[in-house]
Amino acid sequence: MVKAVIGLGSNLGDSKRHLMNAVKELNRYDGIRVTDISSLYLTKPVGPQDQNYFINAVAVIDTGYSAHDLLDVLHQVENSHHRRRIRHWGERTLDLDILFFGNEVIDTEDLQVPHPEIVNRAFVIIPLLEIDSSYAMPDGRYLRDMIPGLPEDDLRQMRRLSYDCAKKPDTLKLKLKNAGKNCSFSASGSVSAGENSGRAGHSANRELVCDYLTVKEWFRYRTVLKGRKV
Ligand code: AMP
Repeated sequence: MVKAVIGLGSNLGDSKRHLMNAVKELNRYDGIRVTDISSLYLTKPVGPQDQNYFINAVAVIDTGYSAHDLLDVLHQVENSHHRRRIRHWGERTLDLDILFFGNEVIDTEDLQVPHPEIVNRAFVIIPLLEIDSSYAMPDGRYLRDMIPGLPEDDLRQMRRLSYDCAKKPDTLKLKLKNAGKNCSFSASGSVSAGENSGRAGHSANRELVCDYLTVKEWFRYRTVLKGRKV
């Protein structure tokens, strides 16, 4: 068994649902056991800016597959979500990447691991640090030490999706009508916690409180994966 880390992203359709279903589908494969998932994050798109914000998360798995077989599985799951390649770094219903595959370093035509973009991507580093704050690259570099090098704007605009049952659903729905669509949350008042000094690394603690059923389901599923009673 190898411990691998999968990056998940979506900015088309019901993105949270795509991610939720993708994790469940991965877990159904004989050679995969999902052991943990991060929170869901709303993040600024990489590449073309005329597209929706993304919902991102990472999943940690134990797998008996080879890295290339795992890549085939990820493509199957992407295809089951009608993933089409429209433009480079463009919009997609579901994007699945192998971020880490144990401590292996793989450099083949169709697969590079660790994923070469990890060091530039707040939406990968922050969620993975949420699961394991001492996660390190195969060469020993700690992910936490990469935070200062991440694009400040990506960190500033990143929001962890949370929910708050105490709030009135209607108000929350109103505030979050456009969540996951083409919007920025900088001035909306929908940021409920963790307003900070703007220092990189703290920005991602900002939460977007919402009543999305899928967000609740995601957190419940996380609890189940971690073997705790709900
Ligand atoms: P994308 O359009 O960003 O999903 O890129 C898809 C292609 O990237 C796949 O067909 C893979 O062959 C290739 N690729 C290279 N390294 C990786 C990786 N670590 N995880 C997923 N896809 C990868």
